[in-house]
Amino acid sequence: MQDHPRYPTDIAQATAQWIGGAFRPGEGSMRVLLDPATQNGIARVPDAAAVQVTQAVEAAAQALGRWARRLPADRARVLTRLAGLLEEKADHLAALEALNVGKPLSQARRDVLRAADYFRFYAGACDKLNGETIPLGPDQTALTLPEPVGVTAHILPWNYPLSTLARGVAPALAVGATVVAKPSELTPLTTLRMAELAQAAGLPDGAFNVVTGGAEVGAMLAGHPGIAHVTFTGSTATGQKVMQAAAAPVAGVTLELGGKSPVIVLEDADLDLAARDIARGIFFNAGQVCAAGSRLIAQDSVHDDLIARLVTEAKALGMGHPLDDPALGPLVSRAQFKRVAGYVDRARAAGLTCVLGGEPAPLPAPLDKGNFYPPTIFADVPAEAEIACDEVFGPVLATFRVPDADAALALANASPFGLVAGVYSADATTALRLARGLEAGQVFVNGFLKAGDTVPFGGVKTSGIGREKGLAGLATYTAPKSIILNHPG
Ligand code: NAD
Repeated sequence: MQDHPRYPTDIAQATAQWIGGAFRPGEGSMRVLLDPATQNGIARVPDAAAVQVTQAVEAAAQALGRWARRLPADRARVLTRLAGLLEEKADHLAALEALNVGKPLSQARRDVLRAADYFRFYAGACDKLNGETIPLGPDQTALTLPEPVGVTAHILPWNYPLSTLARGVAPALAVGATVVAKPSELTPLTTLRMAELAQAAGLPDGAFNVVTGGAEVGAMLAGHPGIAHVTFTGSTATGQKVMQAAAAPVAGVTLELGGKSPVIVLEDADLDLAARDIARGIFFNAGQVCAAGSRLIAQDSVHDDLIARLVTEAKALGMGHPLDDPALGPLVSRAQFKRVAGYVDRARAAGLTCVLGGEPAPLPAPLDKGNFYPPTIFADVPAEAEIACDEVFGPVLATFRVPDADAALALANASPFGLVAGVYSADATTALRLARGLEAGQVFVNGFLKAGDTVPFGGVKTSGIGREKGLAGLATYTAPKSIILNHPG
């Protein structure tokens, strides 16, 4: 693949910690990153040692004063410049992300542009962080100052490395907080590149640091006494550990966790639209999306018709090397491939009805060694089946047949997760009733996952705590200070 015209030739450079505005050689063990489409090695990245995690937190603490005291308009200019640099380098960053994550190139490019959008959006907020005055009578004046919370940790997953990084880091920097980011051990490359771009944009040294590594480095960061807030995006099981670790320094947490998002389709829905959206909602990024619509709950009268349309949609999705921009790339790692295949194999062994996919499809060399898994659909899945309940995090859809809207709502809510949900119905009153009844942080009516990044996002139940995106994402990183002046007489 190295002779591919889009292969990022500088890939081997991105191999170290970024602390205090410079790359530092890692002092922990070395990891080899693999191209998920071929299993060829693409880069070597060292883990941070414990001492380097502390150095990164200290660098961020030292930068706090310098960054927070900058005029709001200056902070805005830096973040706007960073947005511009991300856009300028979009092709290159997209190639890195595609190769590292296994994400089709055009999807990776969109993620880079989304990252730029976050920085531009929050740049606009820097000089609009107003406090309030609170009436206490003629002898006192009370006001609040939205101060930056301090040093913030950002622990990230592998499925949307750059855009998930930006959605937390941009509001943190906008309010004057500083950052230590830990990308997934599988996908650190674009995070390290962004560190250089942030410096080029004028961010002071130490305001944005990166430590690389896995669970051990993440745990050290989450429980570090110098951290004031941890923003974690990842699985529910790890999120629970992060919350416990953050209890020691009494740090705040934002947890963006897993999901098992239901999409309800009633018999009066536009089935063409629903089928297109549902196929995209579960097969996009090979199903490795926290919000993926992995449970289709369809009214009996349209269930079979919808499945036929979904099969047609899914069969049109070609697989290939991410740099060739196919509809579907490989899963991120062999472990993820085995996890998805395990869920499917167990479902088939249990006698569930597989109407599409269900086993890896052979691809020509060198892709024959890749982690490719085809779109897979199980129909009429029992509500208690493993694939009905667990987050598979792959291109696997489970469908359910219900008699009416109330049964659909009850089934949709019968899950410990509550991230995102969808409703398709031509009747606005029914759709609104369902949207209000669904236990989820975000509900889409007649357009699954069609929203910009300016709308608050986050889960209820075991899908998380706190909100990111939009203006809601800013409050996380401020600690309002109340000042009360007494002036009797
Ligand atoms: P993961 O929980 O395995 O890892 C996430 C991050 O946590 C990684 O950087 C990892 O190194 C780190 N980590 C692991 N153990 C840790 C520990 N004990 N302490 C601190 N950090 C630790 O998740 P993943 O496999 O990278 O990502 C997939 C999961 O992320 C899925 O469950 C998906 O739903 C979820 N996700 C959620 C959102 C959202 O916005 N809600 C977005 C993307 C992914």
